[in-house]
Amino acid sequence: EGRIVFDDVHFHYDANRPILKGIDFEVPAGKSVAIVGPSGAGKSTISRLLFRFYDVTGGAVLIDGQDVRDVAQKSVRDAIGMVPQDTVLFNDTIAYNIRYGRPDATDEEVREAARMAQIHDFIERLPDGYQAEVGERGLKLSGGEKQRVAIARTILKSPPILILDEATSALDTHTEREIQAALDQVSKNRTTLVIAHRLSTVVNVDQIIVLAAGEIAERGTHTELLAKD
Ligand code: ADP
Ligand code: ADP
Repeated sequence: EGRIVFDDVHFHYDANRPILKGIDFEVPAGKSVAIVGPSGAGKSTISRLLFRFYDVTGGAVLIDGQDVRDVAQKSVRDAIGMVPQDTVLFNDTIAYNIRYGRPDATDEEVREAARMAQIHDFIERLPDGYQAEVGERGLKLSGGEKQRVAIARTILKSPPILILDEATSALDTHTEREIQAALDQVSKNRTTLVIAHRLSTVVNVDQIIVLAAGEIAERGTHTELLAKD
């Protein structure tokens, strides 16, 4: 469950300016793909079409063989965990933030999700800026840590597909390694992963698609793409 197909997808925001021009790719269930390429290439647009923020203007996006336009938007979104680049946390504990979306989860399940996302050390802490009546101060989380909170939330919800949209963020190498480690755990969960990323530093994926100006310029495994240059 979680197989994604982009079948000759065309898309424009404004009719006179095509953004995606015939995008074809397939991600088998439980496999991962990184969509890389320069800013403005269309990486985020691909995530938005998958999540049904927008619908294609030509071709089709299919999840498990079904055109996403034939499914209620809510069911499409239930099947997808979206980790945006700027994760906003609720003004409550990290554990609360992870549990959000699955209030029935046991403490043990929350801890397990936190462990997989590698944030188990601080789940009882509070996000930065938190000010309870008692005057407790929060923990300042880095952008990467916030993303891992969102990844933990997604692990707990365990949808078949996870999208990580980092199309315009510039993460430092250390943060990137931490996120990669969390995603490796997600992959072990047999979740289909779609990573939109500006740089090609993502290596632990099954397939890399290089986008340029709305078209697929190259595709292959990391090793295959290295061999071409
Ligand atoms: P990337 O994620 O690769 O940086 P995007 O998918 O965000 O690229 O954007 C692709 C192109 O679509 C860019 O030229 C961008 O300016 C344009 N674009 C993105 N969102 C909109 C929008 N809501 N309306 C019009 N144009 C948009
Ligand atoms: P991000 O990848 O962070 O979403 P974008 O630049 O792709 O950044 O888009 C940010 C928002 O700005 C989009 O959701 C869209 O509404 C708007 N936007 C981006 N590019 C354009 C554009 N060329 N014309 C109109 N709106 C745009």
